Amino acid sequence: MGALFYQKHSDFFFDSYECLSVKDRTFFQRQKLKKYIENCLEYSEFYRRRLPKIDWSDDFPLLGVEPLTSKDLRENLPPFNSNLIASKEAYTVFQSGGTTGGPKTSLFSDEELEKLNKANARGFFALGVKPHDPVADFFASGSLYMTFIHINRCLQKYGCVNFPFANHTEIEFIHKVVSLFQIGTFTGVASYILQILRQFDELKLEKFPIKKILFGGEPLFEADKRELVQNWGVEVVAAPGYGTIDSWYIGYQCLKSSLGVFHAHDDEVYIEIINEETGKPCAVGEAGMVYVTTCERSLTPIVRYRVGDLAYFTGKDCPCGRTTPLFKLLGRGDDTLRIGYDSIDYNFIQDFLAENKLSGTAQIQKLKISGRDALLLNIESLETFSEDNLSRLKEKFYHKRPAFYELLSKKQIEPLQIKICEPNSLKRNPRTGKLIRVLDYEE
Ligand SMILES: [Zn+2]
Repeated sequence: MGALFYQKHSDFFFDSYECLSVKDRTFFQRQKLKKYIENCLEYSEFYRRRLPKIDWSDDFPLLGVEPLTSKDLRENLPPFNSNLIASKEAYTVFQSGGTTGGPKTSLFSDEELEKLNKANARGFFALGVKPHDPVADFFASGSLYMTFIHINRCLQKYGCVNFPFANHTEIEFIHKVVSLFQIGTFTGVASYILQILRQFDELKLEKFPIKKILFGGEPLFEADKRELVQNWGVEVVAAPGYGTIDSWYIGYQCLKSSLGVFHAHDDEVYIEIINEETGKPCAVGEAGMVYVTTCERSLTPIVRYRVGDLAYFTGKDCPCGRTTPLFKLLGRGDDTLRIGYDSIDYNFIQDFLAENKLSGTAQIQKLKISGRDALLLNIESLETFSEDNLSRLKEKFYHKRPAFYELLSKKQIEPLQIKICEPNSLKRNPRTGKLIRVLDYEE
């Protein structure tokens, strides 16, 4: 058994599946999905009760299946219940968010963890990662968190030279090791990598070339990408894998992908993008909720899981030559704040920051002032802003968002507040280090 890299299909594609014709791909997918559902019915009492009779001649055979929600997972997995477990294999218990009401778990057998490495290898390969590339792994470890140990194993299996820093290594030590070993690739949560690089700057430590930032766990926005390219000369800023711990890898980027656009792993997961108002599949270009059926998970089969992210299929071909369909990820369906009657999406804020060449490390918060809604935009930045600068920014915001300005003119909401904060001062998830992007008002 050599490194995973050498299992590649050709110099262009990791798997032969990535360059199949649409007809062959569709045939392959349908056979696999059918086999998966048959296995669910054979081994899982939970699905025997839950799944209706499926018409396999239908273009969308799972439309009649009740979506599996995050709540369903919590109620049917240990420690509360074992209804979703469909095999006797041993497993590793990971925590999948959910800080209130006890841990929410996700279980993976050893075999599933190995298969997951292969899915990630497809993303590494598509982004030009080579055996013996030195890679620094900055994902969070401990607290039953999955990504660090998964990526650690991936890097070993793929054939990279692996540096398992995790997310609590002292900053000067990181700098020293990265310089001595000339580590050109960093992997981790985007906001944590940015935090490390900004600390290097603050401490006036020597700069060195970084070629690739392979991020995961949360989206990275245009303003962050610009900072990485301008400040550090990074050549590739991309996500080798998009997925969720409750499901599987759902997509991967290639060297031609723009931010937020992914090739679908549609042989490993059956992906539906659903308009939840009509219950129908979305047309190409129409945004909807992502539902996945994880054809690789047999310990706890997952059929039609509502991932909670919004996306749309682009319907376009990728210049890289892969035929796997492209989708654009729009982030969490709940990454919005309702200010008066205006629903402000976090992506809108990121567009605004990028247009004004501001740092992308930002958080929006809803406040109540004298009974009226107010929007507070917190931006982490080393730059200083005068009152005049801030006023001009607010004017630009109102100009970009007439609906918000109209509510303000009618005195239905309070004026926008913008606060410039010290780097690393905004609230982050203590377990994963991810920036908390949206803070809703709590009664
Ligand atoms: Zn591509």
